[in-house]
Amino acid sequence: MGRRAHAMLFPFPCSGHINPTLKLAELLHSRGVYVTFVNTEHNHERLLQTTGGLRLRGRDGFRFEAVPDGLSEEDRRSPDRTVRLYLSLKRSCSAPLVALARRLGESDGVPPVTCVVLSGLVSFALDAAEELAVPAFVLWGTSACGFVCTLRLRQLRERGYTPLKDESYLTNGYLDTPIDWIAGIPPVRLGDVSSFVRTLDPQCFALRVEEDEANSCAKARGLILNTFEDLEPDVLDALRAEFPHVYTIGPLAAAMHAAAHDGGDHPGGAAAGLSLWEEDAACVAWLDAQAPGSVLYISFGSLAVMSPEQLAELAWGLAATGRPFLWAVRPGLVAGDRGADALPEEFVAETRDRCFIAEWCAQEQVLRHPAVGGFLTHSGWNSTTESIWAGVPMVCWPGFADQYINAKYTCGEWGVGLRLDEALRREQVAAHVEEMMGDTEKAREMRRNAARWKAEAEAAAAPGGSSYQSLDRLVEELRLGAD
Ligand code: UDP
Repeated sequence: MGRRAHAMLFPFPCSGHINPTLKLAELLHSRGVYVTFVNTEHNHERLLQTTGGLRLRGRDGFRFEAVPDGLSEEDRRSPDRTVRLYLSLKRSCSAPLVALARRLGESDGVPPVTCVVLSGLVSFALDAAEELAVPAFVLWGTSACGFVCTLRLRQLRERGYTPLKDESYLTNGYLDTPIDWIAGIPPVRLGDVSSFVRTLDPQCFALRVEEDEANSCAKARGLILNTFEDLEPDVLDALRAEFPHVYTIGPLAAAMHAAAHDGGDHPGGAAAGLSLWEEDAACVAWLDAQAPGSVLYISFGSLAVMSPEQLAELAWGLAATGRPFLWAVRPGLVAGDRGADALPEEFVAETRDRCFIAEWCAQEQVLRHPAVGGFLTHSGWNSTTESIWAGVPMVCWPGFADQYINAKYTCGEWGVGLRLDEALRREQVAAHVEEMMGDTEKAREMRRNAARWKAEAEAAAAPGGSSYQSLDRLVEELRLGAD
């Protein structure tokens, strides 16, 4: 009997990275791996303020720790805070992670850290793993197609596709340039490869960060993806030519659900309900009172920011559908650090009887609720996989990073989505929602496809399924590394 594997997990400190990393932590723990989940001190404090914060006490073999992020209060208030956070972590966070791992190794009853698992954007943690002489694994939080497109940003830059020469290139049809040479990806528009090709910055700061972060995954022992084999077979085949150790363990939401019914340690224990924003439980009671399949759910994830004009256009589009809707309007969704207060008063008055505006909700539970019949989404990868797992068709309005390629696959390859134009128009919002949820041939086709993908996602995550087996292989690899 060898040493117990001990995984130290460190995600980039935002919801889109923390959520899937927490799920992975739970799954590893449910299979006997000792887990240390590391937040930044700032987020740790924030989580303690929420109802779910009690879970930070952890449980047997699952502990939470925190390291400083190095940001000042001024940095935190800056519109540039994500970039500052990225740079600060890169500059100052490796040493605290190494020190934490060493301290844990000297603590009674704690096995030594035997591997580091990081999310995207924190590649400096690869160096921490090297210093600790343990293998590193990257949980890259996008689709496989999103990851491959991010890898290819370097070629796009070297071949002169990006940065754009001037602003006119954003609207003159240039972004429609066909790109048909990315192995594993069907022909796509340049604009769909990634938001980062839209840069006008001659230094390409964000573009280079993305391409460097993706390419640095080659230094890791393995790449973990929140997808499943049957969802993206061609791109996974192509990816494996470059990355031999790819573990497809998604959809993570489905894997968690399957593990909870697998008779093992309940994987929801320490992490479920741990969220940087307080979840509004009343929206579920509201959904309980709605007819099956009647409600449109709208959310743009944890980072997207829209202008007050876009918010108003969307709001009036929703009003025009005449349908009940649940809208997660988080504080900060609207430019100028605003939230639901930016909604037009007349819109609120007109739709009050058939809508629920929440700041934040338990999205997986909402999407799985029988009342929900459609999702208007920014096509973030977590949201997309949660919707696929729930069997809910989508109207997609992508705006950042991999969201464009996710939307392209959602609407094209998987046939479960309709895409809105970049310039939001209320008429199109209403028309697409109607086409998705109304009595139309397109709606029936999307519902059929959504039901098929839901079944495939469940099968992948169930015992014996491809994602289940992939997780088995990952755990085995972690155990071998511990000996
Ligand atoms: N989410 C949530 N409640 C909300 C809105 C979003 O729990 O009201 C969760 C959602 O379930 C998903 C995550 O926030 O797991 C958003 O991740 P995604 O990759 O979709 O978008 P990002 O936030 O990274 O842009």
